[in-house]
Amino acid sequence: MSAPPGGAGDGRPLAVFDVDGVLADVAHRLHHIEAGSRNWGAFFAAAGDDPPLTTGVELATALSADHDLGYLTGRPESLRQVTEAWLRRHGLPPGPLWMRPRGDYRPARVMKLDALRRLRPGPEAVEVVVDDDEQVVSALRDAGDDRRRSRSGGTRSTYAIRAESEWSPEAYSALPRRAG
Ligand SMILES: [Mg+2]
Repeated sequence: MSAPPGGAGDGRPLAVFDVDGVLADVAHRLHHIEAGSRNWGAFFAAAGDDPPLTTGVELATALSADHDLGYLTGRPESLRQVTEAWLRRHGLPPGPLWMRPRGDYRPARVMKLDALRRLRPGPEAVEVVVDDDEQVVSALRDAGDDRRRSRSGGTRSTYAIRAESEWSPEAYSALPRRAG
């Protein structure tokens, strides 16, 4: 097992963003893994050329006003330099990048939930997770429900947002704010 992901955190709540399909437009390289082809090497090799997705970038920028940002991606560690350079190049707020450890082939819904639970600030620091994978969002919502059931009052849950389909400024402003 790899070391727990490092934490961001100066006490502000965390907003955690997926990369592919939320910030980065992968449409131009999907053909590598569609139609019977599963060339993951070619799919990932083209990641540096992804155009940014305006909705996701704007959401990250908006949330950075009162959140620390972190990036949680199913991309393998081998893409760290490419991904960090891409995030900088497209003006994303700085924050730690948590990637799929080498040799980790778990489904994203399992890998990401596990990574969030092991964040150093503690999972309670995570206020918002934005991901375009319905299975990831569902898993997070289920986990949030478990947490609400298992603790007495005052506990926040994590707000899992499926990018594009659910994001709007109104939706964000309607999120309950952390007390204190
Ligand atoms: Mg994604």
